Amino acid sequence: MTLARRVGWGLGLLLLLLAIAFASMVRIRFDPPAQAVNEPVATTAPPVANDALIIPVEGIHAAQLSDTWGQSRGGGAREHHAIDIMAPKGTPVLAAASGTVEKIFESANGGHTLYVRTQDGGTIHYYAHLDSYGVAEKQLVRQGQQIATVGNTGSAAGGAPHLHFEIKIMQPGEGWWQGTNINPYPLLAGVKD
Ligand SMILES: [Zn+2]
Repeated sequence: MTLARRVGWGLGLLLLLLAIAFASMVRIRFDPPAQAVNEPVATTAPPVANDALIIPVEGIHAAQLSDTWGQSRGGGAREHHAIDIMAPKGTPVLAAASGTVEKIFESANGGHTLYVRTQDGGTIHYYAHLDSYGVAEKQLVRQGQQIATVGNTGSAAGGAPHLHFEIKIMQPGEGWWQGTNINPYPLLAGVKD
């Protein structure tokens, strides 16, 4: 191999390396920004209603529940925006999720009732027709804790004892008497025994 050829090969190789280096620099420069920058920013917390609940009556399994959402109540005066869970009077009512007892209220229709707000403030669980209370207002309760017993107070008087259970999605600033009800049945029916 002549000197000229050797120099030629050397230059060629050098140019090739420079080209590769340049290409890789260009590619790096046009790479998308780091992954973290592109990740969508969460603007709202996930809805609490999707958090795992437990069935709020001791000894009741998912298969025993029936969907009573939308049924007519009060002789057609109102729609049922809750689930009724049938159980003997005195059966322990359990906190469906952890939270704070926001209100204990005596209601014409609900009888003895309890409003428990979840820890993030975004949901209220409402328990009605209770026979007795096991908690006080402002008390913290943990999921599964007994908070009351099943009864037939209020509009259930004279009828079969059951827990009337509502899930209310709360907007910021809404009080215990407000909120938008969602059907508890699909959430409770998915609870594993
Ligand atoms: Zn009911």
